[in-house]
Amino acid sequence: MKHPIWEGVMFDTMNKDRFDVAVIGGGMIGPAVSIGLLQRGLDVCILDEGDDVLRVARGNFGLVWFQGKGFGMPDYVRWTRRSAGLYGDFASELKDATGVDVAHANPGGLELCLGDEEMAHRQHFLGQIYQQGGGEPYEIEYLDRKQVEDMLPGVQLGDEVVGASYSPLDGHVNPLFLLRAMHTRFQQLGGTYKPGHRVTSVSDDADGYVVHAEAGDIRAAKIVIAAGHGLKDLGPPLGLDIPIRPQRGHILVTERTQPLLPMPMSAFRQTHEGSIMLGVSAEEAGYDDMVDTKSINDIAARAARTIPALRGLNIVRSWAALRVLTPDKCPVYQESATHPGIYGIASHSGVTLAAVNARVVSGWIAGDPPPEEFRSFGVERFNAENAA
Ligand SMILES: Cc1cc2nc3c(=O)[nH]c(=O)nc-3n(C[C@H](O)[C@H](O)[C@H](O)COP(=O)(O)OP(=O)(O)OC[C@H]3O[C@@H](n4cnc5c(N)ncnc54)[C@H](O)[C@@H]3O)c2cc1C
Repeated sequence: MKHPIWEGVMFDTMNKDRFDVAVIGGGMIGPAVSIGLLQRGLDVCILDEGDDVLRVARGNFGLVWFQGKGFGMPDYVRWTRRSAGLYGDFASELKDATGVDVAHANPGGLELCLGDEEMAHRQHFLGQIYQQGGGEPYEIEYLDRKQVEDMLPGVQLGDEVVGASYSPLDGHVNPLFLLRAMHTRFQQLGGTYKPGHRVTSVSDDADGYVVHAEAGDIRAAKIVIAAGHGLKDLGPPLGLDIPIRPQRGHILVTERTQPLLPMPMSAFRQTHEGSIMLGVSAEEAGYDDMVDTKSINDIAARAARTIPALRGLNIVRSWAALRVLTPDKCPVYQESATHPGIYGIASHSGVTLAAVNARVVSGWIAGDPPPEEFRSFGVERFNAENAA
């Protein structure tokens, strides 16, 4: 527990064992939802696994990203837009209350295209998302090379860059500060954090449920399973058979440099400290999260073709992490039919959705009617009859 993320975070010493809501998982989704639950007056406990496990919250790229989300599911486009709209307020609350600045900025974002074929493919893909929305406004613009140059003053683009898609809704944060700020806020609001509590099973209790963890049991009226990859084992016995799989992604970080990139791009972003993060690959490698040299070479090579100045920067760090992916890449928010009051949440955009998870999803768990977008987020969309 000596990692700097935990500076200022208090650990449970009260040994309390009964709560309104037990949240399994202290990654990106659990703390966000828990903050909202505490603000609604509920008593909440987060049970979290040890430090040496799969935790995507510590390995992601930090984008709060709108463009390209929601292919085949207009409600996910709306949901992402909603979170982007709530983000500024959520980040300010975290900063004001905890002193941790999550470095949220939303100057808009770009996806740069190399060659006409890529640009045409991008336009076709985003055009389909727009069509699927039935003509609803879709905040995307297509820029030619000159327009991109105007947006990135002083940045020399590679010869192959022909243009980009742009969305004013895109932005980014420091994801480790976000994790720390959410944990600190959770505890400020009176939440109980139990690290080293790997949950193994859940059983019924007269007043709700008993959550069995290796370090001891707790009781709760409701349970939220926000355990990332852990949902795969925990969910099925509780009626939450949510099809998720790991997909590996790599990230590289350069040394710090002078301000170069005024806005994030889907594959590069300059952090507020000055380093440049480069990503993001997608490999089917099961649960293997070891760094693969071919992937990091490919990322670096594309970065150099896109913005040649990046060639002069040293790479100081690289890692791989495993996305929590559903078959359609859209989120699942599901209450169990067999175990009412137990909810499963899975998403590969836990950073982007942190604001809406805190502000809106918490209301659903507290007992509000489900948000309109939830008509699309149930697990039934994956069953064979519906897919046919
Ligand atoms: C390479 C990469 C880049 C990404 N970039 C972005 C991005 O730019 N923007 C974005 O929005 N998203 C991004 N993501 C995705 C984002 O990080 C995830 O969506 C998010 O972390 C998922 O949150 P989670 O809480 O479900 O899972 P996690 O963050 O993994 O947290 C799950 C927690 O549950 C705990 N747990 C698991 N099992 C148990 C158990 N049995 N008992 C107790 N605790 C348990 C784990 O220890 C962990 O702390 C990226 C992911 C990857 C891999």
